[in-house]
Amino acid sequence: MPLSEELRDLYQQVILDHSRNPRNHGEIPPPCLHAHGDNPSCGDEIDVWLRLSEDGQNIEDLKFTGQGCAISQASASMMTQKIKGKSKAQAAAMREDFRRVVMGDGAPADEDALGELILLEGVQKFPQRVKCAMLAWRAVEQALESAKA
Ligand code: ZN
Repeated sequence: MPLSEELRDLYQQVILDHSRNPRNHGEIPPPCLHAHGDNPSCGDEIDVWLRLSEDGQNIEDLKFTGQGCAISQASASMMTQKIKGKSKAQAAAMREDFRRVVMGDGAPADEDALGELILLEGVQKFPQRVKCAMLAWRAVEQALESAKA
């Protein structure tokens, strides 16, 4: 289903705004969890830094740096806004919902929680772009995995 003109407009505004003025941009000083993700097919690179609460269950702080296409950077920026302050379980549920949206792989369990991330659903028509959209999310997953080691 083609996006309406209005939606396309909104999509472009939101993506451009986040890629030009990324939220939660920067590094967190150690001790923190860190992961680097890259997407060679597009040239995107993302580094994520995150700090967990003392009990290890909540993502207390989350920042990123990176370079690459507008979709990769906007997705990272929106992601930090959505999962900062959430529990690891909530973040994992949101990542799965977002994956479904960008891959066109079924309906998200909690569409409202995704907010403006839903605007990225247009990438499902472009498999190369799915990697751009998922890059920051995979990096967060990796950073969380590194805590278990
Ligand atoms: Zn890209």
